[in-house]
Amino acid sequence: MEFDQLTLRHVRLPLRESFTTSFGTVEERNLLVLEARVDGRWVYGETSPLSAPLYSHETVETAREVIAEYVAPALRQCDGIDDYHDRLASIRGHRMAKAAGDQLLYHRRSVATGESLASLLGGTHDSVTCGVSVGLTTPADVVDTVQGYLDDGFRRVKLKVEPGRDVSYVERVREAFPDVALTVDGNGAYSLDHADRLRALDNYDLTMIEQPLDYGDLVDHATLAATVETPICLDESIRNAADVRRAAEIDACEVINLKPQRVSGLREAKRIDDLCDRHDLGLWIGGLVESGIGASTAVAAASLGSVTFPADIGPSRRYFHEDLIEPPVRMTDGRIEIPETPGLLGTVDRDRLTETTVRQWSV
Ligand code: MG
Repeated sequence: MEFDQLTLRHVRLPLRESFTTSFGTVEERNLLVLEARVDGRWVYGETSPLSAPLYSHETVETAREVIAEYVAPALRQCDGIDDYHDRLASIRGHRMAKAAGDQLLYHRRSVATGESLASLLGGTHDSVTCGVSVGLTTPADVVDTVQGYLDDGFRRVKLKVEPGRDVSYVERVREAFPDVALTVDGNGAYSLDHADRLRALDNYDLTMIEQPLDYGDLVDHATLAATVETPICLDESIRNAADVRRAAEIDACEVINLKPQRVSGLREAKRIDDLCDRHDLGLWIGGLVESGIGASTAVAAASLGSVTFPADIGPSRRYFHEDLIEPPVRMTDGRIEIPETPGLLGTVDRDRLTETTVRQWSV
């Protein structure tokens, strides 16, 4: 594929508020933006691993290396999205790095064909309902924190939990908000030894318990799912469509959290949507605190037909003082519209991209 210019940028965006999970606290978002100039137009892809290998094996540094060494050559040599992935098939893992190229190619195809990203995926939904992911806080603060997000318009609340910081939090929130759609996310911090704690959550009418057990596990999740009434959702355990099939075959979960970046991009996201349909699994789109570039991809994925639950996608102002796109991602009545127009949710502000770039490479 011909590109006049292919550049990788390390971008640093200050967060409006720090975010704490069982992985630790994040104050600023470091991410990589891959940009190309094609036929006089800019197209973009983003990858947003953490700075340390905590959510996945990947980091900003590993992604930078993999993009420079493997993703960029595959982009230059490929003749389309399937060929791009075929060329990278022998590279194990590093799916978030591969997702940057996948995003860029989908953006390119969208602007070249005049079709929206959602339309390229065969998406059927025209808006996405927004949920909020509430970082670990104190029991005294959790109700006020949740109230603030509900006042902002979010339609579903997800509490990050870990052993010992779980049931008491959920109890407080459920008591204060009897009707709110409520879920929890353990980010793999539990084991089967905590099964009683996790079963205790059955008393609070949760929509799902997300990734309670180890990221590499499906079998223990199947064991847990058989004894817990609340549906189990898998996030980190699902690396690709094959993992969805395996999870479905052993009843390891009823719901899949799909983050396009985690599964190497939109092409695999579409395959996962098909599998969820076939195996009657619930599906929703998770978030990675992406800039408006990555969020555009996540919003497009939310158009997929199997998506039935609110997403962890919010307006730009939830995370950033200023996003990379203009207009920023906006939420109205707790929803984000999925555009019918080609390209991203907004236009990348080139000045802002330059100002927030801390390093860049021609790749
Ligand atoms: Mg999660």
